[in-house]
Parts: sequence; C-alpha cells; structure tokens
Amino acid sequence: MESKKNDDNSALVLFSGGQDSTTCLFWAKKRFKKVVALSFLYGQKHQKECEMARAIAQKAGVEFHLMKEPFIGELGTNSLTDTDIVMDQTKPEDSFPNTFVPGRNLFFLSIAAVFAREKGIRNLVTGVSQTDFSGYPDCRDSFIKSLNVTLNLAMDEQFLIHTPLMWINKAETWALADELGVFDLVRNETLTCYNGIPGDGCGHCPSCKLRQKGLEEFLATKNNK
Ligand code: ZN
Repeated sequence: MESKKNDDNSALVLFSGGQDSTTCLFWAKKRFKKVVALSFLYGQKHQKECEMARAIAQKAGVEFHLMKEPFIGELGTNSLTDTDIVMDQTKPEDSFPNTFVPGRNLFFLSIAAVFAREKGIRNLVTGVSQTDFSGYPDCRDSFIKSLNVTLNLAMDEQFLIHTPLMWINKAETWALADELGVFDLVRNETLTCYNGIPGDGCGHCPSCKLRQKGLEEFLATKNNK
C-alpha cells in the first residue's frame, strides 16, 4: 500500500487561550489556509479560560471547538484541577511541580489527531516548549516526535505535529507575537495565570512570573533596538 502524503493546507491548533497557544494560533493563520482551534475542558479550576479562548478564536476568524474530557482531571492528583491542593510555587528538586497533569498532552494530542482526521486535517499545532521547561515530560521534543510516529501508526495517516515554540524562550515568544502583529492581543486578552486572572495576571504564581520575566526581557531588547 502506498503511504499517504501530507499535502494538507489546513491545521488544527490545540488552543487554551493562553499566551503560548494564542501565539501559535496566529502563527498557524499565517502559514495555513484554514485553521481550526480546539480547546479542552478537562476539569481545570479556571474554566473561564475556555470562554477567553472562544473570544480570541472569534476575533481571529477561526472555527472554534470545545471538547469535554473531565476524566483527565479525575485520573491524577494535581493542583490545576484539585482545589484542595496548594500549588507548588517552585519546582521540587527531585520531581515535577504539582501543576503537572499526568498524561495531559498525550490525551490532548491523541484526541486532537482523531478530531483532525475527521475534518480531513493532517497538521496539528501545539504550543509546548522545552526551553522554559518546568519539569513537564510531555512538553519535550522527544515525546512529541515519539507521539507523532505513534499517531501515524495508529491511524495509518501522515500527521505532522508542529511546535513553533519548542526551542524559543518566553521573551522570544513575546517577540514572535509582536512579529505576527498580535502583541497587544496576547498581552491583554489571554489567560496564563494559575490564579485565573487574565492579561498580566496575579503577578506571583509561577506562570505569571515566567510570563512577566519574558515580557520584561522582550521589552528591554525592543527598546534597545
Ligand atoms: Zn498568576
């Protein structure tokens, strides 16, 4: 049997409405003729992010879908879905921070691939990054490449998982948003904060600190140019 080719000019973006996936959404818009956004409701505390994601997709003129996978949050113990757990502020030396949702990207990308296949889409875009690695194994390039092979074997397709942020840091992600003309939108209308505060966020959770540090670095470089 001849193997199938990926000559598809459409892409499915795994879209949470945060800084990274919003930047990826506009990256994909520039690169592909048709872009579809897929968000997941997996039992996260801040379900508001799905509504923010929907609003951004609408603004971007992108078809938006929301899928419910509450079992992901129910399976493991983590501070993003369990309100009784106090969030780790730093990464413990010998393991992951408790913001790690085990298997999340494995489930998300697998579901996204099946969903994309139904729509005739073969390109998947995800905002994972190994650079600002917070200890999440499912953000690593080796995992993504391995899963890409597995998905292709599982469905006898030629999916291609795109990871535009894999090797860039947060400052460079801000620069990319700027280049794509969506710096203000990303800064003001996305939700990255673990405490559920949009835009610049609460300022003290690990996610806000990372975002803020990157923003300051980016602005300093930009002003020096
Ligand atoms: Zn925060």
